[in-house]
Amino acid sequence: MPIDPVALTADLVRCPSVTPAEGGALVLLDSVLTDAGFTCTRVDRGGVANLFARWGAKGAPRSFGFNGHTDVVPPGDPALWRTDPFGGTIRDGRLYGRGAADMKSGVAAFVAAAVAHVQGRAPGDGAILLAITGDEEGEAEHGTRALLDWMAREGEAMSVCLVGEPTCPDTLGQMMKIGRRGSLNGWFTIRGRQGHSAYPERALNPLPAMARLVDRLSSAPLDQGSAHFDASTLAFVTVDTGNPATNVIPSEVRATVNVRFNDLHSGASITARLRAEADRIAQEFGVEADLRVKVSGESFITPPGDFSALVAQAVRDETGIDPVLSTSGGTSDARFIRAHCPVVEFGLSGQTMHQIDEYAKVDEIAALARIYRRILDAWFA
Ligand SMILES: [Zn+2]
Repeated sequence: MPIDPVALTADLVRCPSVTPAEGGALVLLDSVLTDAGFTCTRVDRGGVANLFARWGAKGAPRSFGFNGHTDVVPPGDPALWRTDPFGGTIRDGRLYGRGAADMKSGVAAFVAAAVAHVQGRAPGDGAILLAITGDEEGEAEHGTRALLDWMAREGEAMSVCLVGEPTCPDTLGQMMKIGRRGSLNGWFTIRGRQGHSAYPERALNPLPAMARLVDRLSSAPLDQGSAHFDASTLAFVTVDTGNPATNVIPSEVRATVNVRFNDLHSGASITARLRAEADRIAQEFGVEADLRVKVSGESFITPPGDFSALVAQAVRDETGIDPVLSTSGGTSDARFIRAHCPVVEFGLSGQTMHQIDEYAKVDEIAALARIYRRILDAWFA
């Protein structure tokens, strides 16, 4: 039986799978895929449900992987929605609901494409592997990572992987992602000596030191961009003393910085740069300057090649649009997969992701399933 990707998206939206709740979404996919001849395994870890499905033989030399998530962010106040956020209502060509765009439609489109592709076909030396997680919007600790750990133990490997996250700014076909910038958060603390603001000579004010630090780091570009990436960015997002008094020089000031870096840097090199600046400020002002850092993800790229060309061709054939090969945006689970195989991301337009009245256009869901089908047909041709 062919699967209607729009109906399957609506059914998935009706599963209230707010991270980390499974909400029935993976149970539904398990039954749809099992009926179509896939071997399904639940890979649950740390209170998170994940689903692995394979068509074809384990360890097949040529395997096409798909990664996506069925968990969603909370809907917010349901009264602000024009429809039930878990109703999967279709109105004026739009399917409304939490996860309609991010990314139950992407999962449904891929499942429909995979089932259509395998119909009446023998696997031969090829396999289709679906790694679907219930923890992308949360900590992502027990989601795709758990699936990849399990796959490594079981000898399940992907030759290439397509992540079905929304990638297009407005219209289906505009953009695919071949990499992502890295992201790092840094927390600076500068300590001086508290005192009366009428006698600043008896205190050591940490504020001018922090102001200089913020200014220096903010005004020195990290780079001018690289072959496939825009310039790295650095943004201070807080500066705080928490000081309620006007006649007290505070002893301490804190600031937080977020750095999005391209392939000219690493988490370690950015950390070294921030630390060197803090040390310099400590020297110049006689203050104590501390830095704590968390790297959320390193930058990565799948250089344009056969796989990205195949995906781009399928997009062009279906939509008539030549997709931009981009590395923009935030992080995704592709950051974990890139250590295993070439990974490319392509999906719907993501304008309404995480918003009230999130929706996907019905005709774009159907077109996305046709694009995924073209990709599978071309990959196994
Ligand atoms: Zn997503």
